[in-house]
Amino acid sequence: MLCLLTLTMMEMFSAVWGNFRILLQSITIFFLWCWLEILRKSKTPTQSVKPEAGDGTKVTPTSVNYHFTRQCNYKCGFCFHTAKTSFVLPIEEAKRGLTMLRSAGMEKINFSGGEPFVQQRGHYVGKLVQFCKEELKLPSVSIVSNGSLITEKWFRLYGEYLDILAVSCDSFNEDVNKLIGRGQGKKNHVENLLKIRQWCRDYNVAFKINSVINRYNVDEDMSEEISRINPVRWKVFQCLIIEGENTGEEALRQAETFVISNKEFKSFLDRHRNIRCLVPESNEQMRDSYLILDEYMRFLDCRNGRKDPSKSVLDVGVENAIKFSGFDEKMFFKRGGKYIWSKADLRLEW
Ligand code: SF4
Repeated sequence: MLCLLTLTMMEMFSAVWGNFRILLQSITIFFLWCWLEILRKSKTPTQSVKPEAGDGTKVTPTSVNYHFTRQCNYKCGFCFHTAKTSFVLPIEEAKRGLTMLRSAGMEKINFSGGEPFVQQRGHYVGKLVQFCKEELKLPSVSIVSNGSLITEKWFRLYGEYLDILAVSCDSFNEDVNKLIGRGQGKKNHVENLLKIRQWCRDYNVAFKINSVINRYNVDEDMSEEISRINPVRWKVFQCLIIEGENTGEEALRQAETFVISNKEFKSFLDRHRNIRCLVPESNEQMRDSYLILDEYMRFLDCRNGRKDPSKSVLDVGVENAIKFSGFDEKMFFKRGGKYIWSKADLRLEW
């Protein structure tokens, strides 16, 4: 009886051991397979697409210039963003695009045109300025305008959301402004500039002046007026030729007669070397150191002397669109594109 019991127990033990060995082998094979899988995946190249500039480096849209309209009430002979379309995005679409840019790293937005204040008498740009400051919390929100349509009421409504207002002024001689085309009817461009300068003081907005140096103002000395007005920055551009905008058969302007040589531009800069707020920009610096968005929110590549558009940010996203922007990030930093651009940091003392 005892022998029979021992025999049964041994058979049971042998059966359990057999099953345990099979289980152990299965676990070993499973772990081996997992390990081989991990090894295989680590050797497979990644498929994710990174936004890259021409040289393969990632581009962040830190500072963006959004030319949301091409319409303007002036007729400057050298204008290089002309009224080729009358298209303006519905404001909700513009806000969607700006939100996408913010998520991609945008810190500064500049609204430009055309003339930004043409659209809805300035309310369109005002609402975008407010949205960028209040909702997107952008450190810097600015506008470039010819100044002719800005009112004090606009400052009352939107001034607190705006960091910098740049007004274009190429001459303090009204006759020269008329020759250039900077004007509309009886409006006096310089008087207007001075009025806006005062509103910027009153409503705590940093004031900038942009000047395009061309055949008609290249010999002018603006030192006295600029010193008196005392802008936070005086941007001095060399008149730029862009195929399809201000030169060529399809262009709305023919700016060849406005062009000056590098030597002439340098002599203008030398004449104003004592103006500390002067920031010069040659043609070379201008061409590819700006991230420019057009009215459809397409990046414009200016590297080949014309404006080649990407697909719209709204259709393909920022990362895909920016690859065709032609933006040179190194040149952006070299020309001083990153500066103190929030009025909170400017310490406006007037
Ligand atoms: S004010 Fe500016 S947008 Fe208007 S015509 Fe002159 S350069 Fe062009």
